[in-house]
This record gives sequence, C-alpha cells and structure tokens, in this order.
Amino acid sequence: MQFIDRAEIEVEAGKGGDGIVAFRREKYVPAGGPAGGNGGWGGSVILVANSNLQTLLDFSYSRNFKADDGKRGGPSNRTGANGKNCIIEVPCGTIIYDLETEEILGDLIEKGQILCVVAGGKGGLGNKHFLSNQNRAPDYALDGLPGEHRWLRLELKLLAEVGIIGLPNAGKSTLMAALSAARPKIADYPFTTLVPNLGVVRKPTGDGTVFADIPGLIEGAHEGVGLGHEFLRHIERTRLLLHLVDVTSIDPIADYQIIQEELNAYGRGLSDRPQIIALNKVDAADEETIQTIKTELGNLNSSPIITISAVTRTRLEELLQIVWQTLD
Ligand code: GDP
Ligand code: MG
Repeated sequence: MQFIDRAEIEVEAGKGGDGIVAFRREKYVPAGGPAGGNGGWGGSVILVANSNLQTLLDFSYSRNFKADDGKRGGPSNRTGANGKNCIIEVPCGTIIYDLETEEILGDLIEKGQILCVVAGGKGGLGNKHFLSNQNRAPDYALDGLPGEHRWLRLELKLLAEVGIIGLPNAGKSTLMAALSAARPKIADYPFTTLVPNLGVVRKPTGDGTVFADIPGLIEGAHEGVGLGHEFLRHIERTRLLLHLVDVTSIDPIADYQIIQEELNAYGRGLSDRPQIIALNKVDAADEETIQTIKTELGNLNSSPIITISAVTRTRLEELLQIVWQTLD
C-alpha cells in the first residue's frame, strides 16, 4: 500500500532569439561586410530536488511554467543574450513522467539533483555566418527555433509525518477534514473502506506536512487481526502521533489506555513516539468533566494535552502550533 501525491504541470522552454541581418559601417570602408549576430538560446525548464519540500501541494496553485526566450542577435556580430532558465523545486523522491507518452523522464532522489525537462530553442544564425567566397554579402539570417513544450505528471510517494490515532468515533476523520489543505489521492490500495485517510496540512513556512488518519487501530490489531496490522505499519513511519480522545465517551481514560496498550503491544518504538493528546468534542461536554479528564490523563503521562473541538474548529491553530514545535 502506498500513498501517492500527484500533480500535472505544463512546461515550456524559451524560443531561441532570431539571427539578424546587418552590415558593418565603418569610416573609410564604403561597403562593410555582413555583421549580423546570432540569436541567444532560449531558456530551459529545469527541475531541482529540494529536501525541505514534502509534498506536491504547491502545484495545485501554479501549474504552468515557462522559461524566457533568447534575445535577438545584434549588429557588429553581437550574439543575443540567452533566455533565463526556469527552475522548479520539487521534493526529493519525485518521479517525472511525460503525461502523454507515460515515459519516465527521471527520478529526482538526492537533494540538489537536477533534470532538464524541456530544452530551450537554439538561436538563429545571423547573416555573418553565411559569408563565403560565393556570397560576400548574404542578406538573410535564420529565426530562432521554438523551445520544447510538454505536459508532465509528477508523482511522489508520500511519507506521513503525523499519525492521528484514537478509537473509532473519536473524531479522526472530522479533524483531518478540518485541518487539510488538500487530500491527496491514495493509489494502489486493495479495495477496502479502511483505507488510511491522508491530508496535507499547510505549514506556516509554506510547504505542507502529511497527516494520516489511521482508522484501523483497534484492540488486537497488533496480532494482525483484520487490517489493523497493515495500518500499524504506516504509523510506524510517522514521527508524531496525535492521540484523539473523545471527552463525551463513557470512559475516556479507558479509551486512551486501550490505544496505548495497542502501541505497547506492537513494540518497535511506537509507544515512545512523541504524542500530543487532543481531548476532542469539548463543545459537547461541561467544563468540569473536561478538567477532570485532563488532570487524570496528565497524571498518566507527560505528553502535551490540548482540548479541542474538530466540529467547531476550536483551538485547532494552537494544536497545529504544538505539532510544528514537536516536529522541529
Ligand atoms: P473517527 O471514527 O475517529 O474518524 O470519527 P469521525 O470523525 O467519523 O467522528 C465521529 C462522530 O463524532 C461524527 O458524528 C462527528 O460528527 C462527531 N464529532 C467529531 N468531532 C466532534 C467534535 O469536536 N464535537 C462534536 N460534538 N462531535 C464531533
Ligand atoms: Mg474515520
């Protein structure tokens, strides 16, 4: 099972600058020779892997990229300036396909790795180039060639950094919907209603972080019962667990412990993973009950505890702030 983020973008390289027709004009030389310069190269579009990016979220806002055209040649054999390249930053691990042919153009893995996806057009030759014994005064030049153009599909295997855990009905899906800026499609999963639900949450720094709502965490999951085991493998890769506890449940402390015991039983360091406990549905409980639960949970562990309501979006900003602090 893989989480795949996808984006389609259009890339267009710059046209080459035109060559020009010009002749020397010098004092004491009545008819100067040809002196029209060549056009400059059009700019190319180049992808660069950046290790600070985690998702393709930015491509849902801008998806058309064009490099600059080359400049025309000048008189006195001056070659036109090359067009500026267009540099696009993508997360490490991005695979680049030609959208039409499905051909893989490249796979940017290492930070700083680059891939030229469309090349700029060659500049046209100026008339100087065509000077020969047969033609002492060529009066023609070539136009620059067009730049390449294509549509690309970018694909990135997502790594969920934050896992949302909690018993069924704790409000995981509701919270995910409230926090997400985008919901990447999940590819390659067997047909099941228990597919982990992914969301990309916008960070203050611009990029996104992937959250996974993992619905399969139930008692016995660590024994491989049902699909639980598969889901646990996903939270194994997360760096932070957001543990949702429903304050309106009959026994929220017991709910918390059920999940905690699952994590312990699973082993592999899951129970040591930093956790933020979010007491959810505070809109539907009285203050005294909430405080009692908070105190009791505080006595059980040292994780930060925050009271929220996913439905009324209460204190979600504060929750995210603790998440970013913990991840940094
Ligand atoms: P999940 O099973 O953990 O994904 O839980 P859901 O997100 O599906 O939520 C279960 C139920 O709790 C739904 O009926 C939600 O509308 C409700 N719910 C979720 N968050 C809140 C909340 O903050 N306040 C209240 N009053 N209800 C909530
Ligand atoms: Mg759910």
